Amino acid sequence: MIPRLKANLGIKELIATCKFWQQDAVEQFEVKFAKLMGQKYAVAFPYGRTGILAALKAMGIENQEVICPAYTCVVVPHAIVTSGNIPVFVDCDADSYNMDMALVEHAITKKTGAIIATSIFGHPVNLDALEQIRQKHPHIKIIQDCAHSFSAEWQGRPVQKEGNCAIFGLNISKLITSIFGGIVTTDDDVFLQSLKTEREKLLSPSSRLKSFKRWLYLCACVIAFNRYVYGFINRLEKSGLLNRFVKYFDETKIDMPADYLEAMAPIEARVGMAQCDKYEQIIVHRRELARYYYAQLKRIPNFQLPQVDKGATFSHFVIYTEDAQPLINYMLKKGIQLGELIDYHIPNLAVYKNHTYFSKKISESLVKNVINLPIHLNVTPDDANYIVTNIMNFFEDRLYYISDNS
Ligand SMILES: *Cc1c(COP(=O)(O)O)cnc(C)c1O
Repeated sequence: MIPRLKANLGIKELIATCKFWQQDAVEQFEVKFAKLMGQKYAVAFPYGRTGILAALKAMGIENQEVICPAYTCVVVPHAIVTSGNIPVFVDCDADSYNMDMALVEHAITKKTGAIIATSIFGHPVNLDALEQIRQKHPHIKIIQDCAHSFSAEWQGRPVQKEGNCAIFGLNISKLITSIFGGIVTTDDDVFLQSLKTEREKLLSPSSRLKSFKRWLYLCACVIAFNRYVYGFINRLEKSGLLNRFVKYFDETKIDMPADYLEAMAPIEARVGMAQCDKYEQIIVHRRELARYYYAQLKRIPNFQLPQVDKGATFSHFVIYTEDAQPLINYMLKKGIQLGELIDYHIPNLAVYKNHTYFSKKISESLVKNVINLPIHLNVTPDDANYIVTNIMNFFEDRLYYISDNS
């Protein structure tokens, strides 16, 4: 089975977890991560969403509107609400799936406190458009959500550097991982101080029990992602039996994980440091695979590929197709798991129904039709070839099937 995602976890990470003498692992990880992202500072949190919450509080934003994409991970508005603010949703554009900046202009009111700009799937957000908004409304804070992008570049400019701060998610589905965890980066000395003060106020120290649970989770992941075990795990996951372990957010209510205010565990920071060393290799591999997929798949008429962007870092290689479900089922039979990353439309969720949404009816059309191909470090050139061949076969079979019936 070729899994839709796979963290590159192995001996290095397991050894890293044993370095118990590294008492200041979290601080070391912060320094290393900041350097990796070309920023002055990084501040670690138990989750990316806790980072959003703390950043908004550190900016003094309360009872205000926070503009965010409609097409994003639901934990983002959950964090906005938890911070005591109101999310305002903005639709994406059809080329990059990033927030439509013209619509953002419409969404701005006197109550707007911040904009969360997301580089979804690693496609860089349009920094020129964002800069225009910033110049027109200099009091509005800009948070770069880099959970998918990790240093994606818009015309050579790294997205994480163009805002008041950037947040990153570090769970095992992200480009690099610290088991769970999140991190906020910034170049602003004054903001750094308020963010650290806020973290001090919000978080309790990390307990030994947490370190132990994170270690168990890491071991379970190493086993689960094994090529021979994964097929079985996939069946368990589909049956819902694993929901307790794999579902880390709830779409039906606005809440945060039980331990969202318990500091990042040192063991997570150690894994994070080992992962930083693999960062370059991971990005190079993803870009190469993406180039291959583009070259091979652009011939398929039923597929819509995202705009090619040299600065993208491809947390996911996504395809728009009306045949998403039959293709997913077909590929699964061939031992290939495709992903459906965002399979809900946030403004349609019961808990967000009464929120403002600036729509062009694009985000809602993506939900059922956007799938993502495996693009992790363990996808070999042979695997990629096998994936492409099967996609081609699917469409040939289908074309044949359709003409048979007509
Ligand atoms: C993963 C993710 C986050 C942060 O998630 P946490 O699980 O809270 O670390 C934020 N934004 C987006 C778009 C994400 O995909």
